Amino acid sequence: MSYLAINNISKSFGSTTAVDGVSLDLELGEIVCLLGPSGCGKTTLLRLVAGLESANSGAITLDGRDLVDVPTFERGIGMMFQSYALFPHMTVAENINYGLRMAKESQGLIAERVAEMLDLVDLQGLGARRVDQLSGGQQQRVALARSLATRPGVLLLDEPLGSLDRLLRERLLDELRSILKQVGVTALYVTHDQSEAFGIADRVAVMNLGKIEQIDTPQEIYTRPKNRFVASFLGLGNVILKAEWGAGDDPLSQMLAGRLNDAQAVLIPPYGARLSRGEGLEKIQAMVTGYSFRGRFAILSCQVGEHTLEFSLDPYGENGSIGHISEPEQQIDLWLNPSQIVELEA
Ligand code: ATP
Repeated sequence: MSYLAINNISKSFGSTTAVDGVSLDLELGEIVCLLGPSGCGKTTLLRLVAGLESANSGAITLDGRDLVDVPTFERGIGMMFQSYALFPHMTVAENINYGLRMAKESQGLIAERVAEMLDLVDLQGLGARRVDQLSGGQQQRVALARSLATRPGVLLLDEPLGSLDRLLRERLLDELRSILKQVGVTALYVTHDQSEAFGIADRVAVMNLGKIEQIDTPQEIYTRPKNRFVASFLGLGNVILKAEWGAGDDPLSQMLAGRLNDAQAVLIPPYGARLSRGEGLEKIQAMVTGYSFRGRFAILSCQVGEHTLEFSLDPYGENGSIGHISEPEQQIDLWLNPSQIVELEA
């Protein structure tokens, strides 16, 4: 049986359905990420689990216990929400032990737990420091320590790294995952940033209009998006609709032949294309319409038959540099892996 079970839960605000019949099961110690555009219902779903909102219908159980009538503070749930800011006038230790003091734990246990948490988030020796004298990254560590200090069964995180700059966010992300795994807490994590979701989660649930569109491992979501919404949200834009597809005898049409019988659309992934032959790759001809160097990769825009496609290429691999294809209207051979093409539902 799953540790946290969300069963067909719905929540409306007036005429807005924020969460629409969502079911989601988390195993003990699993990290699941809710990923989706603004307004898709991620935060509302988290607040329902926390007991900060009450559902219109559906059920949530934690370790087999029905949470419906259990108030937030008795749910055994920790929260790291942007809106749950630290207490700036308190010290690091006072912030971390806040929940333990509220639960009237003994002085001995509190001291022991604070030391353990400072160790966990690598802030040894900073217990007496006021939190407004810490860097943004250190404050996030204190917030994490505070949310884990009571040893919650489930930790809910809502854009916990949202206020940090990109470099710091990337650094903290790996660290955050390793801390969550070390503690073994079951975690539900909200973000609208796909690389953050992929980096932190065991499984990612992509949400849209209050529903979960797809839930899978990060790699599966990215390489096998189920439908057009998921593909487009992940920035996988080379979608050819069945309705727009004129079968011809050019190589791309040959490659797609058969695939569009059952599917409503296909996705030609932007990754995996190369400028030279390779095992399992098939050649198509493309006319260059644009080239943009982005550092780790370069984006090639091209016209293939009537379709405008974009591919990210490795500007350092193959022939050293692909800067030479920056000339517009140049005809090039592009090598694709047909097994990477994805059939999409509507
Ligand atoms: P974001 O990434 O912008 O935080 P989200 O995916 O977390 O978005 P929610 O905050 O869950 O989305 O909101 C889902 C929908 O419910 C939105 O249309 C929002 O306007 C609406 N909503 C959320 N909370 C309330 C509320 N308290 N009263 C009225 N409408 C609300």
